[in-house]
Amino acid sequence: MKPLAIFGGTFDPIHLGHLCVAWEASELLDAEVLMMPSGIPPHRPPPIASAEQRVAMLRVALRDQSRLILDTRELARSGSSYTVDTMVELRAGHGERPLVLLLGADAFAGLPGWQGWRRLFELAHIGVLSRPGEQALLPDELKRETHHRWVDAPAALRSLPSGKLIALSVTPMEISATRIRELIAAGREPRYQLPSGLFDDPGLLAPYRR
Ligand code: ATP
Repeated sequence: MKPLAIFGGTFDPIHLGHLCVAWEASELLDAEVLMMPSGIPPHRPPPIASAEQRVAMLRVALRDQSRLILDTRELARSGSSYTVDTMVELRAGHGERPLVLLLGADAFAGLPGWQGWRRLFELAHIGVLSRPGEQALLPDELKRETHHRWVDAPAALRSLPSGKLIALSVTPMEISATRIRELIAAGREPRYQLPSGLFDDPGLLAPYRR
C-alpha cells in the first residue's frame, strides 16, 4: 500500500528548504505528504507569525502541485500540539496504511524530548531527512530504541503500518527559518530562499519586518 507521509513544523515561514526536502521525500517514498503546521509548539518559543498568517503562506507555497497537501488539523486543537496525538488520530483514520513521519535530522536527534516519543514507532514509521550541519550524533536512549528499526529501502515500509526507520538522503538545503526571520528583520529580502509567491503580497512577510 502506498504510504502517507507527514511533515510537521512551525513553518514560520515555509521556505524552499522545507519544500525541496518534502518533495524529494514524496518522490523517494512514492507518497503524498501532509504539510502540517503546528499550533503551540511545546519545545520552543511561539512562532512570530500567527497560525492564520502561516497557513496563508503555506497556501501560496503549495499552489500548482498535488503531492504536498496542507493539513491544518493541529491548529484546530487547543493547548500544546503534540505529534503523538496527531499520529493517534491519523492512525485511527487510515487503518493499516503505512504512515511515515518525516523529521529533519535536527528534529530526529531531539526526539527523546518529545511527549510519548516511543509510542510514535507503534503508530508510524519515521523518515529522517538529511540536513546540512546535522551530524549523526544521536542520544544513547534514541540509539537504544532505534538501532533495530533501520531499513535501507523505501519498499520495506510498504508492507508494515509502522515501526521502521529510514534515512532519506535529500539535496542539502542550507536554509533555515531562523535565518530568514533575521534577514527580513534586518531589512533584507531573502528572495531566493522563499517561494516567489510570498513576495507578491507584501502582507505575507509583514510579521517578520521591524
Ligand atoms: P527554525 O529555524 O524556526 O527552527 P526550521 O527552518 O528548522 O525553523 P521548522 O518549521 O522548525 O523549520 O522545521 C520543520 C521540519 O523541517 C523539521 O523536521 C526540520 O528538521 C525540517 N527542516 C527544516 N529546514 C530543513 C532543511 N533545510 N533541510 C532538511 N530539513 C529541514
